[in-house]
Amino acid sequence: MVKTKKVKAAGKFGAGYGTSLRNRFNAIEIFQRKKQNCPHCKKSGVKRLAAGIWNCEKCGAKFAGHAYTLNK
Ligand SMILES: [Zn+2]
Repeated sequence: MVKTKKVKAAGKFGAGYGTSLRNRFNAIEIFQRKKQNCPHCKKSGVKRLAAGIWNCEKCGAKFAGHAYTLNK
């Protein structure tokens, strides 16, 4: 993986796009990589499959949510 400085996940865009957009992007990217709590089994095992599609690894539930976050 290419080293990024303080730009974190947004470093893949290289220079540009500005600070505020980078910070907003990082917040979303960090959230996406963490496992989310499942609304069905209440365990933490939900990953995003695609925009708006979420899958729970614990109980196998697949459900619709928001595009980038589960319930915000
Ligand atoms: Zn579940």
